[in-house]
Amino acid sequence: MPNIAVIGAGVSGLSAAFQLSATGAKVRVFEKSRGFSGRAASRTKNGCRYDYGANYFKLNCNEVARLLFEHLPTNDLSRILGDIGTFDQTGKVEAGDPVQNAGAKWTYRGGINTLGKLLVKVGSLDVTRESQIATLRRADECWRLDDENGETHGPFDAVVLTPPAPQTIALLQSTGENEIVGDLIRELDRAEYYCQFSVILNYPTEFALPDDHYALINSDRKHRLAWISHENRKEGHVPENQTLLIAQMAPDWSQDHYREDAGNIIEAAAGAVQNLFQQPLPRLQWADHQRWRYAHPHTAASLEAMKPGTEIGLFFAGDSFIGKGRLPKAIETGFATARQLREHFGL
Ligand SMILES: Cc1cc2nc3c(=O)[nH]c(=O)nc-3n(C[C@H](O)[C@H](O)[C@H](O)COP(=O)(O)OP(=O)(O)OC[C@H]3O[C@@H](n4cnc5c(N)ncnc54)[C@H](O)[C@@H]3O)c2cc1C
Repeated sequence: MPNIAVIGAGVSGLSAAFQLSATGAKVRVFEKSRGFSGRAASRTKNGCRYDYGANYFKLNCNEVARLLFEHLPTNDLSRILGDIGTFDQTGKVEAGDPVQNAGAKWTYRGGINTLGKLLVKVGSLDVTRESQIATLRRADECWRLDDENGETHGPFDAVVLTPPAPQTIALLQSTGENEIVGDLIRELDRAEYYCQFSVILNYPTEFALPDDHYALINSDRKHRLAWISHENRKEGHVPENQTLLIAQMAPDWSQDHYREDAGNIIEAAAGAVQNLFQQPLPRLQWADHQRWRYAHPHTAASLEAMKPGTEIGLFFAGDSFIGKGRLPKAIETGFATARQLREHFGL
C-alpha cells in the first residue's frame, strides 16, 4: 500500500484524505496551524461562536451532499434562515437574487470548522498539527518532508499539496526539482488571490440587519465593505441580548490597509457598518479580526494541467483550481485528487 502525505488540513486536503483512508492507503496529513478546516474557520470568544472565514456553504453537488448527509453525522448541521441582500456604494440596500436565495445555506451549530473536525474523526485521519512543511526532497523515487520544527517525515510515495497557490509554489520551489516542477509552478501562478480582513463586531443589544437579512453583499464592488452578516442567525452561535456581525472588508481596501494597526481596521469596519444602518448602533462591546493573506482566488489554475506532476508523485487540490472561494468546490477538488491517486496506485 502506498504512503501518501497530504499538506494542509483544509476541507480539500481532509476530503482527499477521507476518501483515500477507505482504500487502505497509509495517509498522513500535515497542518501548520493548531486547528482543522483551514479557511472554513470558527472561533469562540466571550461565549460567542463565529465563522470568520467561510460564513456558510451551499450544497449544489450530489457528491458533496452525500458526504455531509450520508457519511458524516448531521445532528450539528444547521440551516441558516434569511436572505442575502445587496448594497451599493451609496449604502442603498436591496433584495438579493431570488434564485440564489432559494438555495439552502448551511453551517454547523458548533461552527463551520466542525466539518473539518468530523472528517478527521469519522475518517480516523492521521493529522500532525503545528507542522508547517518547509521543504520537499525527492530521492529513490520517494518524497521526504522537512517541517519548520526541524523534523523530517517520510518517505512518501506521493504528496498532495493543498495550500493556496502562492504557498504551494513556495513548496514546489523548495524541491529544487526539474522541468516538470517548472511547468507546475507556471500553471499554479495563474491562480491569483485577494487578501481580505474579516472583522468581528459584538454589540450589547440584539438588533437585525437592514430588512432583516441574514447577510448583505456589496453588488458594485465600490464600497469598502464587501460583506456583512448576522451571526445571530446561526443556531447556537450568539447568546441572547447581544449581536455579533461579521464584516468582510473589500479586497482592494484590505490590500491598501494590509499593514495597518488592528485598531484602525476595526474602527473603519465599525464605521462602514454603522453607515449601512438607518439608526445609530449601540457602542461596540468587543471586536476581533483576522487578516487573510490568501482569502479568495479570483483566477484559477487547471487541475488537468497539473497531471504531469503525477509522474513524480505530486498531486494537487484546493480552491486554486476553482477561481473563487467556495468550500464545496474545494471539497470536489479533494475528491478529484483522491480519484487520481486511486487510479495511479490501482487502489
Ligand atoms: C474571509 C473568507 C470568506 C469566505 N466565505 C466563503 C463563503 O461564505 N462560502 C464558501 O463556500 N466559501 C467561502 N470562502 C472560501 C472557502 O473558505 C475556501 O474556498 C475553502 O475553505 C478552501 O479550502 P482549501 O482546503 O482549498 O484551502 P484552505 O482552507 O486554505 O486549506 C489549506 C490548509 O493548508 C495549511 N497550510 C498552508 N501551508 C502549509 C504548510 N506549508 N504546511 C502545512 N500546512 C499548510 C493551511 O493552514 C490550511 O489549513 C471564504 C474564505 C475567506 C477567507
